[in-house]
Amino acid sequence: MDKSILNNISYGMYIVTAKDEKNVGCVINTLTQVTSDDPLISVCINKQNYTNTVIRKTKKFAVSILSEKTNSNIISTFGFKSSKDIDKFDSLSYSLVDNIPVLDENTCGYIICELVDVVDANTHDIFIAKIIDTKKLHDYTPMTYKYYHEVIKGKAPKTAPTYIEETVDTKDKEVWVCNICGYVHEGPLPDGFVCPICGVDASNFKKKE
Ligand code: FE
Repeated sequence: MDKSILNNISYGMYIVTAKDEKNVGCVINTLTQVTSDDPLISVCINKQNYTNTVIRKTKKFAVSILSEKTNSNIISTFGFKSSKDIDKFDSLSYSLVDNIPVLDENTCGYIICELVDVVDANTHDIFIAKIIDTKKLHDYTPMTYKYYHEVIKGKAPKTAPTYIEETVDTKDKEVWVCNICGYVHEGPLPDGFVCPICGVDASNFKKKE
């Protein structure tokens, strides 16, 4: 099966957030509006993500719609690190709406959602939710998944529903791959090298044979 055709499916870029004892969140690209009257949306989140656990428990979440102005560091933090380990909202400008954190800066706006159903999708859960509130924050161009890959040179984490392992030609060249985000560096790793996508140091890189 040629999975590369799946790269032609269009998506946006979003941060889904929720709150129990602490603020949690993760990046997703799989959001779809399902109905327009009494609007429903669906989002797909890996079962291993801490945000998934919190949404199942609290039955509420928010979606911040990322724009082309969104800093790639924010995507790295929310996409490649776990809310179990760090406070992703530390040094970030956010507001609590209905007691759920939403990003204030460089987003188009947010949607507040109430969970109505969960569909088991093997490695992931599809959350179907009712939109209970929305706010437009900035008149920016929303970031598409294609823009993230082609302009920001971003990668998909291995837990993303749309993750496809990259094939790299290692003939006549030294190639290093980031264990965390899959970023590919050609040539020897310079001193003090950190991954430009997820920010880990060179010890997290593995040489491709
Ligand atoms: Fe990385």
